[in-house]
This record gives sequence, C-alpha cells and structure tokens, in this order.
Amino acid sequence: MVAQISRRIAALQEAQTLGMAQRVRELRAAGREVISLLLGEPDFPVPPFLQEAAIAAIREGHAPYPPVAGLMPLREAIAAYYHRQYGLPYQPSQVVVSNGSKQAIFNALLSLLEPGDEVILPSPYWVSYLPLIQLAEGRAKIIPTEETAYKLTPEALEAALSPKTRVLILCSPSNPTGKAYSPTELAALAQVLERYPQVYVLSDEIYELIRYESQHCSPAQLPTLYERTIICNGFSKAFAMPGWRLGYLIAPLPIAEAATKVQGQTTAGANIIAQKAAIAGLQSDLAALVGPMLAAFRERRDAIYNYLQAHLPETAPYLPEGAFYFFLSVRAYLGKKTPTGQTLTSADDLTEYLLESGVGVVSGTGFGSETHIRISYAVALSAIQAGLTRLTEALHALA
Ligand code: PLP
Repeated sequence: MVAQISRRIAALQEAQTLGMAQRVRELRAAGREVISLLLGEPDFPVPPFLQEAAIAAIREGHAPYPPVAGLMPLREAIAAYYHRQYGLPYQPSQVVVSNGSKQAIFNALLSLLEPGDEVILPSPYWVSYLPLIQLAEGRAKIIPTEETAYKLTPEALEAALSPKTRVLILCSPSNPTGKAYSPTELAALAQVLERYPQVYVLSDEIYELIRYESQHCSPAQLPTLYERTIICNGFSKAFAMPGWRLGYLIAPLPIAEAATKVQGQTTAGANIIAQKAAIAGLQSDLAALVGPMLAAFRERRDAIYNYLQAHLPETAPYLPEGAFYFFLSVRAYLGKKTPTGQTLTSADDLTEYLLESGVGVVSGTGFGSETHIRISYAVALSAIQAGLTRLTEALHALA
C-alpha cells in the first residue's frame, strides 16, 4: 500500500540546515574529507557545573513527568532573569518551558493564527519560520531587507501591514545575518505598530547573549509593545546545550496558557534533567558563563571579516553584530561554470559544488535568498581558515 501523506506534510520543506549536516556526515563516512562551516550550534561543551547539575538530577533517582509548562523554579528563574537583565516584570505564570525554542515558536504560532492570518516575515529569515507558519495555516508576508542593511524599516513594515496581519516575527541578533536591532530602530517599528493593535511581535531572542559590541534590546522593553510581545528564547546557544532540547516563551498570560494547552496535548513537559541544569545556569554569573565563548567567536568573526575583505570582497562582507554566522552574497558567481563544465544557476548549485570541493556551507534558499550562502563560525579557527582557503580556491576556479 502506498502511504498517503497529508497535503499539509507533503508540502512541508525539510529542514535544509539539518539536511546539509546529514550530507556532510555521509560524505565523511564514505571517506571524503569535508570542512563543515554549517553548524548552528556552539562548538563548546556544556559548562561543567551544568553537567554536574544534570548528573545530580539523574542521581536524585526520580524521573516524574514534569509540569507541562515547566518546573516552577525554572519558570521563576527565567522571569527573574528577564527582570534582572532587561527590567521586564514578568510573572512565572507567563513563562512556558518547551523542548527547544523551536517548539516554543510553534506553540505561539498555533495559539495565535487562524487559517489565512498574515505573518510578516522579514527576509532573510531563520529556516523554520516559514514551515511553522504554514503548519499553523498562516500566510507569510515576506519582506526583503537586503537593500536596507538586512533590517526591516518602518516604511516597509507599514506597507506590509493589513487588517489580516496577526504576527510580526523579529529575530535579533539574526540567524542568518548576524544583524541586531538597536533600541532606536525598534522604537521606530513600535511607532508604526501602535496603529495596528491586533498585531503581536514574536521576538526570537535565542542569540541575545551572543552580542559583540552592544547589548541586546527586546521589543518587550518598549512600553507600547510590552503587552504584545512574545519572547522565544532557549538554552541551545549561550548555554551550549542544544542536544538537551530546552527553550521557552514568555507571553501575555492568555497566550502562555494557550501554548501550555498545545504542548500538553503534543509533547507535554520538557526533559526534567535539562530543566534542572538550566536552573543552575540561570542562577550563575552569565557574563562569566558566556565570556570565553564570546571571546572565541569575536576573534573568529574578526578573522573571517578581514579575510573576506582581502580575498572575497565580491561576497559583500560586513561585520555581524551578534550570533555566529556570515551571510554572503554569491551573485558574482552565478552564471559561471565549474571546472567540469556545469553552469551554476543558484545558491543551491553553488553549495553543492562547494561541498564537492570539500567545504560545507548552507545555501541561502532555505533562508529566503537564492543569491546567498551562510557560513557558521561555530568551529575552530584552524578549520575556519582551512575552510576559507578551500572556499576561495573553489570560487576562483569558476570561469
Ligand atoms: N531560532 C533561531 C533563530 C535559531 O537559529 C534556532 C536554532 O538554530 C532556533 C530558534 C531553535 O533553537 P532550539 O530549538 O534549539 O532552542
């Protein structure tokens, strides 16, 4: 019998970044040497004291189902963190802990969208937003931002808003661009949103602590957006524990309750071991926790930027303000031929060619751009340097 897959799922894109990582694993298993600049996870171990907290949680011996919305001490610690860090007075009841922030984002979209509701999505965007909007039967209104330094402008926002708009997604610092909104830029967007009280801001703050020059600003810090912002965040980046699957949302109470209902009927509460480790993490000195990682990322970011300016200026490099990615233009190479005579017509073709040349990068297609690639610097500087050399050789071999 041929399995009939639902229209909803048949139309769903696979996660491209995970697909590329799988390709690299397969090539390596076949004996090929590939330098991967793909990863969206820190190349640092879980900090030892968090490992100890998790081990202690295991040794307690009990492994009950956790409450659906998370352990109360963790929800309290998250609320206290946002108060301490950003002056935002949330109640623990507004915090819903999930199996990763991806689930928190999905819970929020499912809780808010009626079929056909519009979601404003500045492009390039993180790969999962579009599929999650589609699963929740919303309609993405994609707004290109390349011409405006990868930031949504008040004018573009105004032009995109309609009576059907329900959500604006902002990701700052951004995956894939590394750009971050300043308080002034957010205030200008907030001013436009004042005239559209039905619109919520879904603020993806997962790279909030990975900032190089200035501090993160949450849209929720703007008085007119506080009641309308849903913060999604998690422990996969700054806490270096992506495999422990832990994230959360903070939202106005009715939305937090709706998200809890969704989660209660799908996965229920998140892994209790990870939750106990996260409590220890949030109670620690966060600057000390992320400091060494941030210093390494900054050194790599600067090295890559200097290299690109010197060797690949046609990729239009700029200095990212946060996260650990460069989003590079490959327009200059499209239409060119590889040494074996293949004409490269898209970022997908180019990515495949680079993989064959021994360096793994992610095509911009999944992020909404046919003319860009993303490289990650969550890998050792030596691998970055070797990867950039390979990248340059492969690009310069195009005719
Ligand atoms: N949001 C952004 C912008 C991301 O880059 C990622 C992971 O790469 C996530 C959300 C999901 O993170 P997790 O589900 O591991 O918390």
